[in-house]
Amino acid sequence: MAEVIVFPQLEIPDTIAAGPGPGNTDPRVLQRFASAGMADHMQADVLRGMVESKLMLREIMGTANVHTFGVAGTGWSGLDCLFSAVLPGDKVVVFVNGTFSGIDGLTLRMKAATAEELAASPLDPKAASVTVVSVPHGQSVTGEIVQAALAKHQPKWAAMTHWETGSGRINDLRGFSDACQAYDVMGLIDAVSSLGVEDFRIDDYPGVDGWASCPQKGICCLPLTYAPVSFTDRYIQNLRRTGCRTFVHHPILEARHWGIIDGKDAEKGVYHRTHSAYAVAAFHEALRITLQQTVAGRAKSYAFHEAALRDAVTAAGCKVTSNMTSLVVLNLPDSLKGREMELVQACRAKGFGIWPTLSEPVQVRIGILNLLNQRAITDIVTRFVGAMNEMGAGIDMKQIGERLEEQYQAAVAAE
Ligand SMILES: *Cc1c(COP(=O)(O)O)cnc(C)c1O
Repeated sequence: MAEVIVFPQLEIPDTIAAGPGPGNTDPRVLQRFASAGMADHMQADVLRGMVESKLMLREIMGTANVHTFGVAGTGWSGLDCLFSAVLPGDKVVVFVNGTFSGIDGLTLRMKAATAEELAASPLDPKAASVTVVSVPHGQSVTGEIVQAALAKHQPKWAAMTHWETGSGRINDLRGFSDACQAYDVMGLIDAVSSLGVEDFRIDDYPGVDGWASCPQKGICCLPLTYAPVSFTDRYIQNLRRTGCRTFVHHPILEARHWGIIDGKDAEKGVYHRTHSAYAVAAFHEALRITLQQTVAGRAKSYAFHEAALRDAVTAAGCKVTSNMTSLVVLNLPDSLKGREMELVQACRAKGFGIWPTLSEPVQVRIGILNLLNQRAITDIVTRFVGAMNEMGAGIDMKQIGERLEEQYQAAVAAE
């Protein structure tokens, strides 16, 4: 008889999520998650929680789009729903300037590939109808780049990542939206790392017809709860005409459980799939937190603390190449060049969860998701500079610490 192995109970330590995401789940979210009772996906309070979440999400995203709801899963789940209306042979232009926009490009090539193109290269199809416009790592996609590509290719769809988390670069959303409007293209935006971090309203970008984000970055909820998505009536009308090849991520069908039926708000949702009372309770609390602190208030706080972190690592000899406010992407001082992975691994081994870049060139990424206070930023700087010093960087930690303290004192004085 084969021996049955029961492993010891799984223990996972608490670490500092100082990377591009997932961020530090808010304690209030964890508390709601753990306090939800056992209830099925058609229980009245679960359905009410979903309807309330839908309404709060519209407020946070700044939209009157009826089709605004959460897709169970993470960012890629929301993006899969977003890209679901792209059918084989559809003409698409996608802008790629890092790891995540690169995967968006792959997703679109998979969806737009013909059966023959997919069979020829199943994991990396070369779809003739998809144009990938590549922008070098560390640079932003500009309005001019988008304008030129849409003028040349006249696609049905255009896709761009708002904040490219791979390289820490902000792309020109205004330019993208304007170009989509000018060429009558339906714009699709990966807003996975910008929602809840930057102060913007999606309805101010009329060239964009679909948006997708994630639970665990700016929204500070748990991964595998809900990825926010929003679709204009134009997107939905197009989808009604063409259909799409998914049940679970179908934007019209999935919206039903959130009480969006026949394009209108219903009192409560109807069955689409099983939802989790825990996930609904956590997501609902995360949205409450964002609204209580306000999107504008959080955006201001991110900008302030990112500037403090950027100043400190620059003073320590690093070169920052990013411009996102939730993430610093940097090159190490010359003396440590080539030792990025070693440094990241040393930090991670101590529960300080920073990240390397996932595609070339190798850089270090330090994030501050839901770490918006002086104590947290000081801890990050101390650990990071300490790790560089252990590798022989010889940085004057005291001077860096004093400089950081001065910035915070000046901010307090200015209040
Ligand atoms: C994190 C991220 C994703 C992927 O999200 P998951 O939650 O890992 O599925 C996609 N796009 C961007 C821009 C991201 O930052």
